[in-house]
Amino acid sequence: MKNGRHAGLVVASNRLPVALIRNPDGSVRIEPGSGGLITALLPVLRDRGGTWVGWPGISGDLSKFGSLLEEANRKSGYQLKAVPLTEEEWRKFYHGFSNEVVWPLFHDLQSLCYFDPSYWRVYQNVNRHYAEVLAQNRTEGDFIWVHDYHLMSVAMELRRLGINAKTAFFLHIPFPPLDIFVKLPWRFQLLRALVEYDLIGFQTLRDQRNFIQCVRTLLHDVAVHGKGRLLTLRETGRDVKVGSFPISIDYNAYVKGATTKEVADKVADLYKQLPNRQLILGIDRLDYTKGIPQRLEAFRNALERYPELHERVTLIQVVVPSREDIPQYYELKTRIERLVGEINGQFTKPGGWVPIHYVFRSLDQSDLLAYYRAAQIALITPLKDGMNLVAKEYCACSIEEDCALILSEFAGAAAQLQRGALLVNPYDIEGVADAIYRAFSMDITERRARMRRLRRSIREQDIFWWVDSFLHAAIAKDLNAFPLPEDYIPQSEIGGMSL
Ligand code: UDP
Repeated sequence: MKNGRHAGLVVASNRLPVALIRNPDGSVRIEPGSGGLITALLPVLRDRGGTWVGWPGISGDLSKFGSLLEEANRKSGYQLKAVPLTEEEWRKFYHGFSNEVVWPLFHDLQSLCYFDPSYWRVYQNVNRHYAEVLAQNRTEGDFIWVHDYHLMSVAMELRRLGINAKTAFFLHIPFPPLDIFVKLPWRFQLLRALVEYDLIGFQTLRDQRNFIQCVRTLLHDVAVHGKGRLLTLRETGRDVKVGSFPISIDYNAYVKGATTKEVADKVADLYKQLPNRQLILGIDRLDYTKGIPQRLEAFRNALERYPELHERVTLIQVVVPSREDIPQYYELKTRIERLVGEINGQFTKPGGWVPIHYVFRSLDQSDLLAYYRAAQIALITPLKDGMNLVAKEYCACSIEEDCALILSEFAGAAAQLQRGALLVNPYDIEGVADAIYRAFSMDITERRARMRRLRRSIREQDIFWWVDSFLHAAIAKDLNAFPLPEDYIPQSEIGGMSL
């Protein structure tokens, strides 16, 4: 026992589940974070006792904020441990290596990468800082669960510090194919760092296979056994488990939220403002992986080729501001706004129908749920996406089950949702336009059958199922005991392909 507690779970993620925020007068307040991961891990952390390590939202000296974090510790029922980072470290680690190297490369967009050597050095240093905070705050026997692409080297840094704890890693974004991964100047070091974890989890079988192919090709001292689910490091004999665990949402919380009176009133309001038509919904963070310009072009194409859609559909495109200080994101915003202007200019009926309602802001929860519940069609067409939780949240909120989901075959969610969704290739402008028309014309019986299937799968494999499967896989001897969801089909077999 150390830190006055028994062995338990220690989570590390880029950010803490709380954030320190500067007020306009210079004072600082603390706010709870939100999201599926936090919801799912809180009960485990509270039951087993645990610690969450991450960046608190403010760079520089954190000693002034100790009392705020202490108070959050008392309220949360587990320990929050902040990793202090300088402004320069945060810039080069987060904006630099994480979001100008790993993010574009792992989403197959190598031409958007900026391989600045100083980014890599700072990334390693920052991963060491996370490892140091973990080392100071763990108890013998603790299980350390590290999340996402910002922290791929933490297990290696822990071993360098002489810590031999059991560690696991979950990658929330895709893992790229070999031909793309090898472009990374630090490909050997990064792969070597990843195999320092005892369990590595991916969103889909495709990601898992890509990773295994990279290991087979680049790390000759690692043997791969059992359909790529077990690696053995030849020198040490240490085993590393590899699995796929599609992340999900707190299904019941979304259903409950979507059936409140506040949300129902907002839905009724939307229908009053936009009567006699079907609402098509797109909700994305501002990101070039989300395929927003291609989607707008597909919507334009649908309006050109299917005039019966005029005045009968409205596309509500919500874009949530994100990473605007990276130049590509700012350029993307300008491109989206120009396209929305062009399409509305081309089709708007003065005094009447406006085809696209564009919203550029973060929504509060009840507005988000109202859009989910009101829209008859969701148009979710990322060029590549680790999972895409919006797709699952939309289905959970489709209480009447009379809606249609159009989904990119390159979203991680497609492996699980393809039997109920209309799958599209987001680069195929006419194909997406045809899917919009097909969804618009789909009869209620087909919509219900598809949506029921989608909702059942998301209900059965919710976020709590995901946490359980991952934690059980960490202690299991045989990963075959963890079957994928019933509806799951490897993405390599989607759309008639057999790669
Ligand atoms: N979301 C949000 N604010 C909004 C709109 C959406 O926080 O105004 C949430 C949404 O509920 C979802 C998440 O943002 O949980 C987006 O997750 P997703 O996996 O779809 O994409 P990511 O942004 O992680 O790439």
